[in-house]
Parts: sequence; C-alpha cells; structure tokens
Amino acid sequence: MKFLLLLVVIFVAAWAWRSGRLADVAHKQKPPPTPPPQDMVSCAQCGVHIPQADAIAGRDGLYCCAEHRQRAES
Ligand SMILES: [Zn+2]
Repeated sequence: MKFLLLLVVIFVAAWAWRSGRLADVAHKQKPPPTPPPQDMVSCAQCGVHIPQADAIAGRDGLYCCAEHRQRAES
C-alpha cells in the first residue's frame, strides 16, 4: 500500500513538473510584436508610395530617390 501511495506522489509530481514546463514553452513561443504602421507618402515625381522615413525631402515635396528629386527640381 505504501508503494502505491509513493507511485501516486511521483506521478502527480511528474505531471505538475511537465505542465509547468509546457506553460513555460508556450509563454516563450509568443510571436514577436508587429512593428507599428509607418506613414506612407507618395513621390512628387513618379507617385510611388514609400515610407516617410525613406523619403527624400526636396523643395517641392518628398521623393522616392535622389534622381527623382533632381529631375523634378532642375
Ligand atoms: Zn519617384
């Protein structure tokens, strides 16, 4: 009878340890947060949409590349 009780205790301890580990793994495998949406602007020369951070500022507006800024302002 003592042996049976010991077996039950071991089984319960193993189950608790396993479910704790599974919860840890599930917590660690959360997907990374998505980046915040960026403001999009359109090129004053060709109209292509680009993130505002990548836009090149010119006298008459924002451009997708230096070539378009040069072409529009020369
Ligand atoms: Zn352009």
